[in-house]
Amino acid sequence: LPDFPVQNEPVLGYLKNSPERKQLEEAIKQVSSQVEEVPLIIGDKEYKTDDVRYQVMPHNHKHKIAKFYYANKEILNKAIQVATETQKKWDRVPIAERIKIWDRAATMMSKQYRANLNATTMLGQSKTMIQAEIDSAAELIDFFRFNSYFFKEATKYQPISENPRETINSMRYRGVDGFMAAVAPFNFTAIGGNLAYTPALAGNSVLWKPSDTALLSNWQIFKICREAGVPAGVVNFVPADGPVFGDTITASPMFAGINFTGSVPTFQRLWDQVGKNLNKYVNFPRLIGECGGKNYHFVHSSADVMTVVNGTIRSAFEYCGQKCSACSRMYVPESLWPKIREGLLAERDKLKIGDPTQADAFMGAVIDARAFERISGYINHAKNSKNLKILGGGKCDNSVGYFIEPTIIQTTDPKDKIMTEEIFGPVLTIYVYKDGKEDEIMELIDTSTQFALTGAVFARDVPFQKKALDTLRMTSGNFYINDKSTGSVVGQQPFGGARMSGTNDKAGGPHYVLRFANPQAIKETF
Ligand code: GLU
Repeated sequence: LPDFPVQNEPVLGYLKNSPERKQLEEAIKQVSSQVEEVPLIIGDKEYKTDDVRYQVMPHNHKHKIAKFYYANKEILNKAIQVATETQKKWDRVPIAERIKIWDRAATMMSKQYRANLNATTMLGQSKTMIQAEIDSAAELIDFFRFNSYFFKEATKYQPISENPRETINSMRYRGVDGFMAAVAPFNFTAIGGNLAYTPALAGNSVLWKPSDTALLSNWQIFKICREAGVPAGVVNFVPADGPVFGDTITASPMFAGINFTGSVPTFQRLWDQVGKNLNKYVNFPRLIGECGGKNYHFVHSSADVMTVVNGTIRSAFEYCGQKCSACSRMYVPESLWPKIREGLLAERDKLKIGDPTQADAFMGAVIDARAFERISGYINHAKNSKNLKILGGGKCDNSVGYFIEPTIIQTTDPKDKIMTEEIFGPVLTIYVYKDGKEDEIMELIDTSTQFALTGAVFARDVPFQKKALDTLRMTSGNFYINDKSTGSVVGQQPFGGARMSGTNDKAGGPHYVLRFANPQAIKETF
């Protein structure tokens, strides 16, 4: 085996009566029995405003679990000032020291706070045990450890000094002067942590706007990192209204960059604001973003049916399809359709949807009322369109929680909006194609959406795999052969997409942290 000194955090199994299961059950009880009050944090000070918000449990939306406050413009400007001042000191803290703090935080997440991170993720974002474990435990910890490792490795490189008695060349890695912003999504707790803390690792200070619907889990990360030794003011915790946040940060001359995960229109709006303010800035801001997908499973007639069925059910429906990488369009050859159809429908029928803290639940609820409306809108479109037929699922009920059944649709029109627009919910649409028409399907995959995040080809025919790999070259940032389109692992499948899916800076990859670094080359002569 190659010498790889950092390892992925093991994913725990949570078997009944295991110590981790007991701790998790305790933490779930504790988190659901109170409404935690979460202040805004700037430097070492707490703030509250009149703009009070609540986080509820999506699967039981009358049940509040956190109370928090939106930052207004004035508070955001205060955060900008504190962050900008802090950056000058933080940047001088040796990288080895910073890495020690990140390592300590990772260990605390793994040993001390795992149950709490998972419980706040399960209740606040309606994740099942296993979906929380791979996110707010394993992936979060991996981001902290791997980014530290990658940064350490990158900074080992020193340029050539031809005659060291006369001249020594070296490089040092600074942060960018000013402040950066992290705008986080609800769907992965780990992504929130990565968005805020990787720029910080590289010597920047950060204004972190967590998602309202992932507030409590993101707040746990913030507290753990402070306890681990991240100094006050390096990361500032500022929930806020999106446009107010975007307008305020991009108006500051000290704006040094944004690390963003969210929708295409929001990211475009940020670019637009930055463009308008360009002549004000001290730096060219770094604009790093991940913006969603319309990910495909493309099945060839040589595919193994069980592999296709299992992979597709998991990719389309785990966490209610609310992963950027979730499969939502599928292309199946006529010859395999009867078997695949039968398999998908039989497996779909077994999926249990409900309270995600129940051990047998496969899916919880979708995140909020807005998501419920959007997703049920697509399902209604399917009910009303003659090109679309609902084969399984389709029920939506928001009386207690925002529940949407895993829904399988067949389309006779591969360009229907249900095949081209991002839905971000448990809706899978399938187009059945004539065997032999693979080239046309690949053309369709390539051209019918604006996205290029993930995609999978299922084929046992090796020459066909190679052909698909070549023809579908530009259709995704993460490409899978005989595996589902979700489930990338830090350090193993660096994650990110191109085209309108984002700037493809590959979270969990070796170069990610360098996007936030500001190297200086030094020549010393004697
Ligand atoms: N990395 C995750 C996966 O492959 C998806 C991340 C996202 O939803 O943004 O499943």
